[in-house]
Amino acid sequence: MIELAYTRATDAADAIRRAEGEDAKYLGGGTNLVDLMRESVENPSALVDVTGLSAEIEETNDGGLMIGAATRNTAVAEHPAVRTRYPMLTRAIVAGASAQIRNMATVGGNLLQRTRCTYFYDTEGSRCNKRSPGEGCDAIEGFNRIHAILGASPACVATHPSDMCVALAALDAIVHLSSASGERTVALCDLHRLPEDRPDVETVLEPGELITAVQLPASGLAAHSTYRKVRDRSSYAFALVSVAAALALDGDAIADARVALGGVAPKPWRAWRAEEVLRGRPATKATFLQAADAELAHARPLAGNAFKVDLTRRTVAAVLQQLSEEARR
Ligand SMILES: Cc1cc2nc3c(=O)[nH]c(=O)nc-3n(C[C@H](O)[C@H](O)[C@H](O)COP(=O)(O)OP(=O)(O)OC[C@H]3O[C@@H](n4cnc5c(N)ncnc54)[C@H](O)[C@@H]3O)c2cc1C
Ligand code: SF4
Repeated sequence: MIELAYTRATDAADAIRRAEGEDAKYLGGGTNLVDLMRESVENPSALVDVTGLSAEIEETNDGGLMIGAATRNTAVAEHPAVRTRYPMLTRAIVAGASAQIRNMATVGGNLLQRTRCTYFYDTEGSRCNKRSPGEGCDAIEGFNRIHAILGASPACVATHPSDMCVALAALDAIVHLSSASGERTVALCDLHRLPEDRPDVETVLEPGELITAVQLPASGLAAHSTYRKVRDRSSYAFALVSVAAALALDGDAIADARVALGGVAPKPWRAWRAEEVLRGRPATKATFLQAADAELAHARPLAGNAFKVDLTRRTVAAVLQQLSEEARR
């Protein structure tokens, strides 16, 4: 039996106060945190339930949306403004987990869900630098089919598991944070850290810092977007590779593009190099493959996941091809 304090916050300031000075964790839907506690990967002494905080989706003055951190994943996916103006976000969310889990999971919790590396969860038998810094990493020489090909380090090769975050990276989402020292914003693309020599430090959040909202900037491009997830089963499986992309054409040339990748890196991976190749070039399969190649030039596959390089290349090209055909109709 583990002694654990549970309280429910009434607002952001109350949540921050309740989490102060304690080995406390914020509790969203609990769909990841409770599993981690059950496996003794996480052992907080107190849980501060933040599901009573803002769960509103509101229009911003610049024509974007502000999504409260306690909004359930299903509510985001089903919101009419998200479906029509940011379709890649709806598609990414419904590609994840199951309807029951999406009904429970919150936006804040989705952002901070932890890797699905099996060695990370195996507290009894496996070495893991993310769980126990300095211990070693059994994935590097082990079963690493699901692991990273981009952005990994000799300390950790785990991937970030979220589908929703891949779309948020492509959409230039902004994360709103609050703590005892005030409020600040961080670009979603800068929220998660690469592992380098500290895979246990996964984000730029300060201790006790609370996610209060995620802002989607206005974007005409985002209305012409999609998300494709490649996985071992057609449902209830994490991505081997996923692609969130948006494309605008000017005649036969690419006016603008956004591309982000999931399942291949320790964080939602914005494909900046691919986007650079795409802009101003003819919207052809050759261009799409060149863009993917530019991003994948830095791929460092492991013994078990070299297939991800070609799978990513082909998925990026196929998604961009689909968007370009839709733009020409
Ligand atoms: C069987 C199964 C299959 C799944 N499949 C997929 C999938 O295919 N794709 C996918 O993307 N996801 C998948 N998931 C993961 C799921 O999306 C996450 O578990 C969920 O999004 C986490 O949200 P939550 O609100 O339940 O977070 P919680 O479990 O409550 O919390 C997760 C973390 O976020 C922190 N936290 C929560 N809210 C805040 C806040 N406001 N501020 C700061 N910190 C906060 C918590 O302290 C904790 O560290 C799956 C999960 C399960 C169990
Ligand atoms: S890949 Fe990362 S999470 Fe997995 S065992 Fe290695 S250090 Fe741990």
